[in-house]
Order: sequence, then C-alpha cells, then structure tokens
Amino acid sequence: MIELAGLTKRYGGKTAVDDLTFSVRPGIVTGFLGPNGAGKSTTMRMMLGLDHPTSGEVLIDGERYDRLRDPLLAIGALLEAKAVHPGRTAYNHLLCLAQSNGIARERIDVVLDLVGLGAVARKRPKGFSLGMGQRLGIASALLGDPRILMFDEPVNGLDPEGIHWIRNLMKRLAADGRTVFVSSHLMSEMALTAEHLVVIGQGRLLADTSMADFIREN
Ligand code: ADP
Ligand code: ADP
Repeated sequence: MIELAGLTKRYGGKTAVDDLTFSVRPGIVTGFLGPNGAGKSTTMRMMLGLDHPTSGEVLIDGERYDRLRDPLLAIGALLEAKAVHPGRTAYNHLLCLAQSNGIARERIDVVLDLVGLGAVARKRPKGFSLGMGQRLGIASALLGDPRILMFDEPVNGLDPEGIHWIRNLMKRLAADGRTVFVSSHLMSEMALTAEHLVVIGQGRLLADTSMADFIREN
C-alpha cells in the first residue's frame, strides 16, 4: 500500500505536483492517467524517494520512505525505456545489481525466465532492441522480489506484442497480491490494463475511482 498526503512539488514558480492525496492498494493494477506534462513522472519519482517533495509526504506500508530498511527490496520501478549498454550481457547487468543489493544469484535466472530473456541473457548484445531493454529493465525491477512495483509509461515505443506482454505481466504481479502502479497518457491503454484509475491534470487530482465507474461517468 502506498499513501500520498498533500504531496506537492514546485520548481521555481511552477507547481508541477499540486497537493496530491490518494492511495494505491495491493492486489490490483492502479493506472495513473494524465497528459504529457501533467506531473506523473515527478509524482512517481517522489513516490520512489528519488526526489524530495516541496511539502506533503509518501508512506509505504505506513512508513516514510527514508525510514524503510531496504527501499530497493521494497519497491521495484521501471522509469524509462532505454537501450542497454552494448558491452555488457543482460546476465552481468543483473549480477552487478544483485551483488550490490545482497540479492541471491539464483534470482537472476528466475527473473530472466520471467521476462523471457533466458535464451539471450548470456550473449553479448550489439545493442538490445527497445523491447528487450524494457524487459531487462523489468527484470531489474523484479530482482529483489518487491511487494510494490511502479512502471512509468512502460508501453511507449513498444510493438503490439510487447505491449500485450507487459500488460499481462502487470496483471499477474497484481494478482499475486503486489501493489502495481502504472502511468500512461493514453486512456485506451489504461482501460485495458487498470482496475482502478487515478487521473491528474496540471499537477492536480482530477479523479480517483474504479475503472468501471470512470468509464460509466465519462
Ligand atoms: P508527466 O510525467 O506527466 O509528463 P512531468 O512530471 O514530467 O509530467 O512534468 C510535470 C511538469 O513539471 C512539467 O511542466 C515539467 O516541465 C515540469 N518539470 C519536471 N521536472 C522538472 C525539473 N527538474 N525542473 C523544472 N521543471 C520540471
Ligand atoms: P567479472 O566481471 O568479475 O570478471 P564475469 O563477468 O566474468 O566476472 O562473471 C561473473 C560470474 O557471472 C561468473 O562466475 C559466471 O558464473 C557468471 N556469468 C557472467 N557472464 C556469463 C556468461 N556469458 N555465461 C555464463 N555465466 C556468466
């Protein structure tokens, strides 16, 4: 469970995130919808403890982020799709991450299979495709077996098969009892992915409702 209370971020005179109060429950996929520039990434960065709020706070299972014992194991995140460094195998990328976070090496093959990279993980890529980079990013997020997962615009730039795969993965993670929070600027994508919807515009909360109610009322 993630709770935001009066979360606010100002950059100079501009308010990017304006007094957001809502919570994200475990067991379902919660969508975070808003046009580009609405403040989704800024909100998610604060939810991950990567950015300090100007005011307000984020609670993860009742704890402030800075008091969590193992934030990296509590929350997994996929922030943006990027091509993978061509000089390093997917396996070695995950190995470095596992070693620096005290995660058992056995988890590497588990997450590689989960994202469907088992067969290519030990090859030296000339450069993964965006979709493969995305899968490796997701493998990294899942490495510590976190109870909370956040995905910032995960389907941007992917082909239909990749989009379908990520959507199903998020649903499976939620069905396992995890808290899954995913942003998009596309209502059509959210409608196929999320059971609950939080909508923001210009940094402000516009809706916090079940997908069924949102569709009925809009
Ligand atoms: P979204 O993810 O919904 O597209 P963002 O959170 O990226 O929106 O941006 C929200 C607003 O905050 C935008 O107007 C953006 O220009 C502004 N913003 C984001 N990061 C910074 C920053 N580091 N400095 C100044 N303004 C920023
Ligand atoms: P270092 O970077 O310390 O030289 P390596 O990158 O060679 O270490 O690999 C560290 C460990 O990761 C190895 O012991 C091996 O078990 C595993 N590993 C790394 N790359 C591969 C690979 N291509 N195939 C199989 N195992 C690998």
